[in-house]
Amino acid sequence: MDAKTAYQELLERSRERAYLSSPARLAAWDLRTYIPKKGHPHRAQALAAFSRMIHQKATDPKIGELLAAVEGSTLMEDPDVAANVRAWRKDYDRTTKVPESLAAEIAEAASRGESAWAELRKKNDWEGFVPYLKRNIELKKAYAEAVGYDEEVYDALLEDYEEGLRTRELVPLFEALKAPAIQLVREIQAAPKKPPVEILHRHYPKGAQEAFVLEVLPELGYDLEAGRLDETAHPFAIRIHPGDVRITTRYFEDFFNAAFFGSVHEAGHAMYEQGLPEEHWGTPLGESVSLGVHESQSRMWENLVGRSRGFWQHYFPRAKERFEALADVELSDFVFAVNEVKPSLIRVEADEVTYNLHILLRFELELALFRDELKVEDLPQAWNEKMEAYLGLRPKTYAEGVMQDVHWAGGAFGYFPTYTLGNVYAAQLFAAAERELGALEPRFAAGEFAVLLGWLRERVHRQGRRYPPKELIERATGAPPDTAFLLDYLNRKFRPLYGLT
Ligand code: ZN
Repeated sequence: MDAKTAYQELLERSRERAYLSSPARLAAWDLRTYIPKKGHPHRAQALAAFSRMIHQKATDPKIGELLAAVEGSTLMEDPDVAANVRAWRKDYDRTTKVPESLAAEIAEAASRGESAWAELRKKNDWEGFVPYLKRNIELKKAYAEAVGYDEEVYDALLEDYEEGLRTRELVPLFEALKAPAIQLVREIQAAPKKPPVEILHRHYPKGAQEAFVLEVLPELGYDLEAGRLDETAHPFAIRIHPGDVRITTRYFEDFFNAAFFGSVHEAGHAMYEQGLPEEHWGTPLGESVSLGVHESQSRMWENLVGRSRGFWQHYFPRAKERFEALADVELSDFVFAVNEVKPSLIRVEADEVTYNLHILLRFELELALFRDELKVEDLPQAWNEKMEAYLGLRPKTYAEGVMQDVHWAGGAFGYFPTYTLGNVYAAQLFAAAERELGALEPRFAAGEFAVLLGWLRERVHRQGRRYPPKELIERATGAPPDTAFLLDYLNRKFRPLYGLT
């Protein structure tokens, strides 16, 4: 077969898989939002049937033949072709290298682990959880051997979430962040100034919160004609197509932050998906590139934009109109309150500064487990020691310590680092945007957000999977991923807030 025909067929097959995954994603959205309780078991099976069908198509040996026909041909001189083929090749090799029996074992262990975790965590039963964790680790090691890796087992796990990222690069990246972040947290804790967080826990009626979110998000650039906002216990963003990217949030009438910053976070994910090039839909050039880059978009809008003083110079008067609770509150007190830094045991509630220390802890433990330097049995103690060293806190129970996250229960190792990578990329992209566009906070204060979104559209969103994440960041910012930008941002923001020098 000639290369041109082969490439056409690859495009058609890729789009067909995407068309099949659209209704599956819609059904998954419904499963997490409005499905009646008794519909659950059927929906789970229907989704499993869908994913079996898509998996079959994705592993069809014909794809390997078609790829071989294009690779090495002159067609690869076309950068679009080269980018799609590189991504298809990577996906095809990874899915076909894993024996079906192993893939099934991994899926089953994950779902067993997650249900067991939910029950055992309630009972604070670490001993009961150990066998599930051991099984997941054993299977992930087998998975790593099956897909292969350059230098070490953990590389194979990272590759699933952040293409091209290697442990040997991640270790120094995180190491550079560690001491300065710990230092900043300690100084903040010792600072005499404390944020007046009480104002965030006054009465914020749900209807007013929802109306405020729906007023703000479209002004930031989240297109509600290509999306919608619903309510769920566990907020998420889900793409069906750039013309249909949905988000959810949750409301607490006695806490302002959850719905507002949660919605802005999810809208950040959604704006990335809405900004993907529609003409490449159904092919790698029309897909988001990695979890780390995805998280950089959500964290940027949530924190670097949404928690900035400039942002609230624009929105605080409008918030005051909506919420009586803010009637006697000054702008500077509000900005200080929404930027509270406070070490806590629980990652999901963590602020911008301590969050990265939570991730560091998990990364170091994961790496030790997969390097066989730490036994599962010794995990709780290692966890507690690090928690004390980094955040000055010691969990009293397993539930608020080593068993707090579902990730390991579901076998998701190599996933956590993408959260901090998201923060690292966000600060680096934002700094690059400011170098080119000038200071952004005054623009936010004037209600101008399109200037930042436009820059992100061009440098990140419209690129799809054209480059691996590290190269995308380097092209967008002129430098490889570097924690210096994040540290600089954190110091410049939090030191003045807390009256530190
Ligand atoms: Zn996120």
